[in-house]
Parts: sequence; C-alpha cells; structure tokens
Amino acid sequence: MQEKKKMALSTQIFIALVLAIIAGIALTGHPEFATGYIKPFGTIFLNLIKWIVGPLVFFSIMAGVVSMRDIKKVGTIGGSTVVYYMCTTAFAVAIGLLFANLFKGAFPVLSTTGLTFEPSATSVNFMDTLVGIFPSNFVVPFVEANMLQIIVASLIIGFALILLSDSKGNVEFTFVDIANDICMKAMEMIIKLSPIGVFCLLCPVVAENGPSVLGSLAKVLLVAYICYIVHAVVVYSLTVSTLGHLSPITFFKGMMPAIIMAFSSASSVGTLPLNMECSEKLGADKEVTSFVLPLGATINMDGTAIYQGVCSVFIASCFGIQLTFAQMLTIVLTATLASIGTAGVPGAGMVMLAMVLQSVGLPVEGIALVAGVDRIFDMGRTVVNITGDASCAVVVSEMQRRRLAKKK
Ligand code: ASP
Repeated sequence: MQEKKKMALSTQIFIALVLAIIAGIALTGHPEFATGYIKPFGTIFLNLIKWIVGPLVFFSIMAGVVSMRDIKKVGTIGGSTVVYYMCTTAFAVAIGLLFANLFKGAFPVLSTTGLTFEPSATSVNFMDTLVGIFPSNFVVPFVEANMLQIIVASLIIGFALILLSDSKGNVEFTFVDIANDICMKAMEMIIKLSPIGVFCLLCPVVAENGPSVLGSLAKVLLVAYICYIVHAVVVYSLTVSTLGHLSPITFFKGMMPAIIMAFSSASSVGTLPLNMECSEKLGADKEVTSFVLPLGATINMDGTAIYQGVCSVFIASCFGIQLTFAQMLTIVLTATLASIGTAGVPGAGMVMLAMVLQSVGLPVEGIALVAGVDRIFDMGRTVVNITGDASCAVVVSEMQRRRLAKKK
C-alpha cells in the first residue's frame, strides 16, 4: 500500500515536469504571467522547505550521531564520507577541466568589453569562509539558514550528548529522535506538494528563458551537461556497483523523483527530504542517510565543481587567456574547497565561482558572461550534487554493513 503511494508521487512529479515544459513553451511570449502568477506558488513551496530544513538538518545529524552512540563510529562513518566526498569532487573538477579543454576550440568568442560583475564580498575569501563555518550565536545560524554552522552546532551537541551518556551512563536520547521525527513528518507533508512545486518552479524558467536563451552559450552549456552526465554515469555507477553492491540502473531509477526535484528546484537542500526517502528505499541505512545526506547537501557539490571547472576554461578562453597546468591544479583544489563552501540553494555556485577565478588570477567580471544562463547550469549541477550524496549514502551503508559482518 505504502509502496503504491510513493510510486504515485514520483509519477506525479514526472507529469508535473512535462506539463511545466509544455506550459513554459506556450507562455514564452508572456513570461509575466508565469512569473507573476505561477512562480509565487513555487516560492511558497520553497519557503516551506527553507522553513523546515534548518531544524531538519540540525536534528537529523544529531540523531545520526547519537544513534551511533560511539564517537569512534561517528569518526569511521564521517571519515569515509568526507574521503568519498573529497575524492569524487576533485574528480568532478578534473572531468570539467578535461572536457572544457577538449572542446575549447568550439567556444564562441564573446565580447568582454564593458563587463561588470559585483562579487559578494563575504563569500569569495577562503579564510572568511573557514571562519564563517563556526557559529558565534546559537540562533543566528537558523535565522540566516547557514547550513555549515547548523551542522557544526549539531555535531557539537551530538558529541556532547554521547560524552554525557558515557560519563553519566544511560542518558535518554529519545527527545532527539522525537524532534527528528516531528521535522521528518512536517517535511513529508511538504513533500506531498512536490508536483505543484516542480510545476510552479520550472514553468517560469522555461517561459522566461525560452529556447533562444541557449543561443550563444549553447556550447558551454552542452560541455557542462556532457560532463555532468559522464561524471554521474561513470563515477557513480562505478562506486555504487563496486563499493555499494547495487546495480547502477536500480540506483538511477530509484533516484528519479529526487533527480526531477533537484532539476526543478536547483536546490540540494530543498531536495534533501526526497533524497533521504529515495536513498533509504535503495537500501541505505537510516543511521547513515540521516548523517551523510544533510552533510552532503551542504558540503558535497560535484556538479558545482564541474561547472566551476568548465566555466573557468570558458571564461579564460573568452578573455584570450591560456591556462597553465599549475593553474588547472589550483582550480581543482579551489573548486573542491569552493564547492564545500557553496550553500545548497539556487545560484550559490555562481557566487563561489568568483573565488575559483580569483585563485588563478582570471577576471571575476567573466562571471557576467555565464550569469544569464546560470539557472540552466544550476539545474544540471544540482542533479549531480544530490546524486553524488545519495551514492555516498549507498556506499557508506554497504561498507558499514560489511564492517559489522566482519566483527561478528
Ligand atoms: N544550486 C546548487 C545546489 O543546491 C548549488 C549551486 O549553485 O551550485 O546544489
């Protein structure tokens, strides 16, 4: 019965996607209707998600930590997760750089005179990003929806609870589970609105941009999408099948509802609840998903890293600059770090691109070249971002099961 219900939701989401594209194309000449009357409902849907996601991440990670009841175990799972995330992200940038260099000759020469782009002063400096991870106030991270700070706070309190239980013995963790269950239930209710959300978010994008938006930037968009697909199909299929013992076809099929949601909302954080549901259905343990996925939605951004690699080469060639091998390596490093600092919300990756460009001395104004179609880049990169998180949940769950089996 339950199964049937869930299937129906994914079908509904797919139908919403198709309808949004059709309605968007039909409204291409009148985008003001789509942005004025359809988009607000998408915004309401996203607002509800934003409202619940702070507490959800806070309690979910805490519940994940305390359910392991052992700091060592958190360390093992956390360690495998971070290693997986860092390696796949570095690989993603490398793929982006490789393909962008291969297709560089096909990039159009765009006029770069008179370009201006105001980078956000707070998010381009690496040291500021590092300092910004640590909260200085208990409430502000929630008010500002600062996910990295929420994660740090939730880890500290989770560890404190475990230590308290070690020293005092038998501390009851039920309140964490109850708080987590309440957030999950509220999220489930919001998820039921996904088909409406998908339609109302995607239709205005299609209506506003129309097929013509793809014009001069078609090639760089195409290269980015080729990289997204190659990375997802090659890297995740390999890791999921070899380390996770799951058929890639089953994996991608099971991920479809979350993929469609990510594509429409361009938000990893917004897709988090659906991603949790899909990953658990694919066999990932709740203990692992509640820890790995919220963390991934915040720090693991393979699609964003690919986009930053591709755009760096694209912007360099538009400005007639030839990147050296050392510069490419710097891009791999900074894009990996930049993707950690990228929030899982629409458009965040473009702001962090400024940090990558600055690290190799490329003109930040170049971002203006790709800014007009950022949403289209963003939809694809978010799909890769959340698929990478789910692949990690599947892999770490399987590794954890094997570790336990070995111990027995
Ligand atoms: N929109 C992306 C995400 O939520 C982040 C980005 O802009 O690259 O995953």
